Amino acid sequence: MAKLSIVVPCYNEQEAIPLFYPAVEKVVTAMPIDVEYWFVNDGSSDGTLAELRKLHEQDPARVHYVSFSRNFGKEAGLYAGLQAATGDYVVVMDVDLQDPPEYLPEMYSNITSGEYDCVGMRRTDRKGEAKFKSFLSDQFYNVINKISDTKIVSGARDYRMMTRQMVDAVLSLTEYNRFSKGIFNWVGFKTKYLPYKNVERVAGTTDWSTWKLFKYAVDGITDFSEAPLALATWMGGLTAVVSIIGLIFVLVRKLVIPASSAFGWASMVCIILFLGGIQLLCLGIVGRYIGKIYMQTKKRPIYIIKEKK
Ligand code: UDP
Ligand code: MG
Repeated sequence: MAKLSIVVPCYNEQEAIPLFYPAVEKVVTAMPIDVEYWFVNDGSSDGTLAELRKLHEQDPARVHYVSFSRNFGKEAGLYAGLQAATGDYVVVMDVDLQDPPEYLPEMYSNITSGEYDCVGMRRTDRKGEAKFKSFLSDQFYNVINKISDTKIVSGARDYRMMTRQMVDAVLSLTEYNRFSKGIFNWVGFKTKYLPYKNVERVAGTTDWSTWKLFKYAVDGITDFSEAPLALATWMGGLTAVVSIIGLIFVLVRKLVIPASSAFGWASMVCIILFLGGIQLLCLGIVGRYIGKIYMQTKKRPIYIIKEKK
């Protein structure tokens, strides 16, 4: 019988775990597969680890967990879970039941048909989400799909089932700055997206503020595109052209009306501030990439395990 690994990153999810496990069990016990769970405790400060220990004691052969020494972020959790998983198929799920387990049989039947290497879930609405947050998300997908070769499907969640071959490909990308949404697409393979309606989390609160999501989006863009680096070149070129036009204008005016005086200092200050701003912006963009290079060259591990069962 084929084995399915269920990888679940958890950060402060003590209320969600006791709801998640029975909900998934109900679905998978009816499926013709062996199942193993890999929960990742991402440095939670609540009783998450205690909940995971309890589950492991109930079913030590099937329920496993990796516990980090501190919070390393969901991306690190996913990576650790994928590394630990031994199944022929691996599914990545959130513990808050926003990734409904009811779809597992449909995902499984699609992936075992042999036609696809990956079956992902794509939400078709954003019910229950703040308008401003949805607007920013839409803009993010627009921008990244315009400037990066790696296309990211709007609304696609991390909820996806992959073949062993694809999991190995994902693991072969050992980069420090991990943007899974991009990595899953970058490795290629054939992915089928099943649409579904958004579900709100069962318990606890999301850790993702609008500001954190915004930073995540900026990271995603800098991890998968070099387009922002070209901005400096384009803006430099543009200001050079504008300044030549200005120079010609001043010269011609001086020749035609010799008595005309120089421009006022106000416009001068505006121009200086404008150019200074652009320079700082470009420096900042370059700085972000240098920061990423810096972190990568240190070759630090992506996570540190304190306990594994
Ligand atoms: N998560 C994690 N580490 C973090 C933040 C979140 O492992 O630093 C987990 C969290 O426990 C959940 C999943 O990632 O299982 C998705 O998080 P959340 O529900 O907060 O995000 P959203 O669904 O709002 O995108
Ligand atoms: Mg969630």
